[in-house]
Amino acid sequence: MKYVFGPVPSRRLGQSLGIDTIPLKTCNWNCVYCQLGRTQPLVNERQEYYPSEEILAEVREALESHKPGEIDWVTFVGSGEPLLHAGVGYLIRQVKGMTDLPVAVITNGSLLYLPEIRQELAAADAVLPSLDSGTAYLYRKINRPHPELTFDRLVEGLIAFREEYRGKLWVEVMLVQGLNDTPQALRDIADVLQRVRPDAVHINLPTRPPAETWVQPPPEENLMQAIAILGNIAEVVHPAEGSFDLSGYDNPIDAVIGIITRHPMRQEELERTLECWSPGRVRKVLAELEASGRAQVVERFGVRFWNAAPSHFPDEAQSLRTMPDRRSRNKSRQSSNEIHGDGK
Ligand code: SF4
Repeated sequence: MKYVFGPVPSRRLGQSLGIDTIPLKTCNWNCVYCQLGRTQPLVNERQEYYPSEEILAEVREALESHKPGEIDWVTFVGSGEPLLHAGVGYLIRQVKGMTDLPVAVITNGSLLYLPEIRQELAAADAVLPSLDSGTAYLYRKINRPHPELTFDRLVEGLIAFREEYRGKLWVEVMLVQGLNDTPQALRDIADVLQRVRPDAVHINLPTRPPAETWVQPPPEENLMQAIAILGNIAEVVHPAEGSFDLSGYDNPIDAVIGIITRHPMRQEELERTLECWSPGRVRKVLAELEASGRAQVVERFGVRFWNAAPSHFPDEAQSLRTMPDRRSRNKSRQSSNEIHGDGK
């Protein structure tokens, strides 16, 4: 299957059948924590990157090949920002017509300021946008957006969407040590969340290989502080346990490429996922994929992660050049009241 993967265990959506509507990596943000590596180049143009009917044919086939109870959610997610696919509203409505399963959209939320995007999302049962900062300064430092996407637009879009949308709005906050885990940065995020009024806030931690080598999850005490400051609808979402469904793949090579393109994996996690093939065959396949460059292995947090070959992961020296220095961090504190005014 080219566009549909899983079901995969999701931290928020149980066993989730993924629909990937765009090529790796098509995104209008370049988050420092992105598990798909750096965005090169930033893309903010909506297009029908893949034919909608081909995507729908695969969704139909995947739904027919699973028994009731094997899938909890059908989720638009994948190799970048799914709302950049120009037919996403049509795709959501068509999938809703095929199944009674709930449909979710995981998005960075950057395009919600556009009325047509809010309209297209109306049929989804849950939308999960990101909000990692309460100031324009930290928005630029963490999410590194396309120049057209200002912080004001992000916040306005979230507020307008909440007013119109009848489904579940679950906002995800990814915490990065030294950037948005300080008390002031958390209070700034809480201020914006108060205006957005989501149904839930999911606090997430960078546990997969981040684009930048210096990105670290916050220490435990800052995490506790985040839960306290972000309010009683906030909860930490821990990595999911569960099995990856490989029934859509005939051989381990396609399975590895299919999974790591959307979901980079630790070596031992990948070997466990592939245990329906013999350990000897799996080892041989992984060695061949690494040697041929069809997959790449990136070391982060002292662990080997398997990633798609086209992903851009800078080495330590390149990455450190993007690290906000002490002066920048002081500036982040000074500009913590700068909720409006992107200052570009
Ligand atoms: S984390 Fe999501 S929004 Fe951020 S760069 Fe990666 S794909 Fe884009």
